[in-house]
Amino acid sequence: MARIYIETYGCTFNQAESIYMGNKLRAVHEIVNKPEEADLVIINSCTVKQEAETKLYRALRRYKDKKIIVAGCVPQADPELKDTKLRDYSIIGPGAINRIVEAVEKTLRGERFVDLSNHRPIRLGESLRKNKIIEMIPINDGCLANCYFCKTKQSRGDLYSYPLKLILNHVDLAIRNDAKELWITSQDSGAYGLDIGIDLSLLIKKILEEHRDKFYWIRIGMMNPNHAYRMRKQLGELYKDPHLYKFLHISVQSGSDKVLKEMNRPHNVRHYIESVKYYRSIIPEMTIATDIIVGYPTETDEDFELTLKLVEKTRPNIVNISRFWPRPGTIAANMKQLPFKIIKKRLEQLHLVVDEILEKENSKWIDWKGIVLIDEYGKNGSLKARNYAYKQVVIEKEEVEKTGIDIGDLVEVKITNSTKHHIIGKPLRIIEKNK
Ligand code: SF4
Repeated sequence: MARIYIETYGCTFNQAESIYMGNKLRAVHEIVNKPEEADLVIINSCTVKQEAETKLYRALRRYKDKKIIVAGCVPQADPELKDTKLRDYSIIGPGAINRIVEAVEKTLRGERFVDLSNHRPIRLGESLRKNKIIEMIPINDGCLANCYFCKTKQSRGDLYSYPLKLILNHVDLAIRNDAKELWITSQDSGAYGLDIGIDLSLLIKKILEEHRDKFYWIRIGMMNPNHAYRMRKQLGELYKDPHLYKFLHISVQSGSDKVLKEMNRPHNVRHYIESVKYYRSIIPEMTIATDIIVGYPTETDEDFELTLKLVEKTRPNIVNISRFWPRPGTIAANMKQLPFKIIKKRLEQLHLVVDEILEKENSKWIDWKGIVLIDEYGKNGSLKARNYAYKQVVIEKEEVEKTGIDIGDLVEVKITNSTKHHIIGKPLRIIEKNK
């Protein structure tokens, strides 16, 4: 039996795959929480941004005295790396993770394991618990788009939706085993089912029909705005159900239709604006999350102004801002790049606008009283919780110690303060202790 540490970068889908590998390995080996305790380290890499890829190479240097397996999207998107920068390591692509036990055995014996085959294993059927109460529900692999900046597409490929029945069985198992948050996850949740003649709204409807009584909240993961717009009537109705977090993550990337076209995105600005309007007309407190890329090679000052205006107009509650990074092998990497000075200035401008919105929107929650679910550990002994609108509520250490609350508890809180990132809650009473 060996001691294994798994380090994960990137999206929720990657996190789900690390949990899947951990489950398979746990039957034969010990999974440890600290790299220094491990004989072997699995690095589940992410290729979406240059920063994420740099993290992998830093980790390889950090763990140079350990046996290492590189998993995830970096080697899958760039298979030639197996003969160059990654030639000294075992490698397992996302399509081969069901062979992780074999990969570990071989690596422990000092041999090299390499499998970058394009199989698409379905990561369902056994529990994928992020912690005591959060269950990952991967619903599809790949997407329908072909965005010119995206490296992930090269590793994940075209849309492959998992059969409805398998997902429903997985959800059923999770709820019977007391999962309280279900994270619906994929590269584009909105694309689910379009290759098999169904859609995301049908999947959500079925889950809700089959599980009426027990407490749980569903978080629907990122989708492209064209899908949110296409399904607005059906999804809008479903969002009224108390089991759904009022949380919509629609990735707009730019406020300029010209840039969206030059990115080869599958949506336009109207899809995003109309979606925000429509879903907020049904649920005014809906948390809208979005992603924006600053400094795409063809982005002019006028295009960037449009992005600023779009943010000001739609006031999203979460904005993931990324600097554009040319990713090798993508079409956008061959375009003439913008000077860093310009990108830096635009990043600063956008951060200023976003910070002001977030601070103001979060402060509106002060004095709100209601139920939250404690779902993760925070910094310095604090706990993180979510309310029905997926607002992150931080409960500070002193309150945690005073009340004895823990992950999985349902607690009534009063919001006493806010920052641009979260709101701060004071527990009033425990509604239900987690078993
Ligand atoms: S939708 Fe676009 S950005 Fe997202 S994974 Fe697919 S190609 Fe990449």
